[in-house]
Amino acid sequence: MDMHYTAHEESFRKEVRRFLIERLPKRIADKVRLHHRLTKADIQEWHRLLNERGWFTSHWPVEYGGPGWTTAQHIIFEAEAGLAYAPRIVPFGVEMLGPVLIKFGSEDQKRHFLPRIADGTDWWCQGFSEPGAGSDLAGLKTAAMRDGEYYVVNGQKTWTTFGQHADWIFCLVRTDSAVKKQMGISFLLIDMKSPGVELRPIKLLDGSYEVNEIFFANVRVPVANLVGEENKGWTYAKYLLSYERSGIAGVGQSTAALNWLKQIASMECKRGRPLAEDPYFAARLAKIEIDLENMRTTNLRVLASSGAGVAPLAESAMLKIRGTEIRQEITSLARRALGPYAAPFVSEALDEGFRGTPVGPDYAAGVAADYFNQRKLSIFGGSNEVQREIITKATLEL
Ligand SMILES: Cc1cc2nc3c(=O)[nH]c(=O)nc-3n(C[C@H](O)[C@H](O)[C@H](O)COP(=O)(O)OP(=O)(O)OC[C@H]3O[C@@H](n4cnc5c(N)ncnc54)[C@H](O)[C@@H]3O)c2cc1C
Repeated sequence: MDMHYTAHEESFRKEVRRFLIERLPKRIADKVRLHHRLTKADIQEWHRLLNERGWFTSHWPVEYGGPGWTTAQHIIFEAEAGLAYAPRIVPFGVEMLGPVLIKFGSEDQKRHFLPRIADGTDWWCQGFSEPGAGSDLAGLKTAAMRDGEYYVVNGQKTWTTFGQHADWIFCLVRTDSAVKKQMGISFLLIDMKSPGVELRPIKLLDGSYEVNEIFFANVRVPVANLVGEENKGWTYAKYLLSYERSGIAGVGQSTAALNWLKQIASMECKRGRPLAEDPYFAARLAKIEIDLENMRTTNLRVLASSGAGVAPLAESAMLKIRGTEIRQEITSLARRALGPYAAPFVSEALDEGFRGTPVGPDYAAGVAADYFNQRKLSIFGGSNEVQREIITKATLEL
């Protein structure tokens, strides 16, 4: 179903489409479509191309270099970028830290860090979760003790996405353990090159290295790297998470993944006929398409009524649950379509320069690995079980 755009929105949609045709490198779009792994350079290239067009910092206010998009423009961009198999923007610097610095950072922090986020000089990662503090994030223990003009940081973060690429990490640290746990947390910017920072990769189900453990042993961090006030970090973290969850429905990506699934279902055969014509498979395909269509409408409704392009807590929790369920169901169907090639795959076949023999048709490795990789969707950004709790509390006013 095509949405009804105003003339202005329609011309914006065309402009986005033209940009994607002209500027999104085919090599990168092919990797996204086939679920091959993007390198750091691929991601940086895409960020740079967007920044040249003025669209990378799309959630920043105009006075900080944002394009001043309306909610509808954000949705149009996300939908078109998804359909064109553009990579998802890596959000840590531009969509998480950026808005926090703009609202709570010092003038020096803004002047120094914002341009470097925009032009890709600094790659940021997010140091929130710890081994004992995921769902119960406020229980975090990594400690920052004041010592003159420095904080001395000790502790461990985990699940740090793309920490291996990062120049800097923004961390929630404990600066007071004598008060209610939310009241003793601060928001600190730490240079990954500081002595005492150690990164250990974690291998994921699909064979990829996407997340890491990060250890801090007596890491000295200048007090100037504290964002806002000491012990107010929980407020800034909640503000950041509202941005983290705003694009979480992933409608554009799911639409593209569904398109690709349909192509696979027309290439794969069951009893001599395309799988897409098998009644059982076709019914599951139809159901997912209807669910996605409903999701698209709900996403529009929620974002339009919130006005600011950021969904309220309970609604964004709902979008996260449905969005990730749909995406996981698509990967599950794609895997089903592969039959015997659904499980075995050569992990290296997803990296550039692979010269070996893939298992099954050329797209099989990506489909199988994607199924495993996307299990993460219902865990990160706050697990789906915890999102259900958020909805319950908000709607029952508990
Ligand atoms: C691939 C991946 C990337 C990530 N990237 C980052 C990152 O870059 N930076 C970062 O800081 N973090 C990151 N995370 C961490 C992520 O936010 C946490 O994994 C998530 O919040 C869940 O916490 P946990 O893993 O500690 O699980 P736990 O909190 O231990 O939960 C375990 C299980 O118990 C359930 N559970 C917990 N509490 C409740 C409850 N109250 N009610 C019902 N069920 C409950 C959960 O739903 C889950 O099923 C990432 C995680 C993954 C998997």
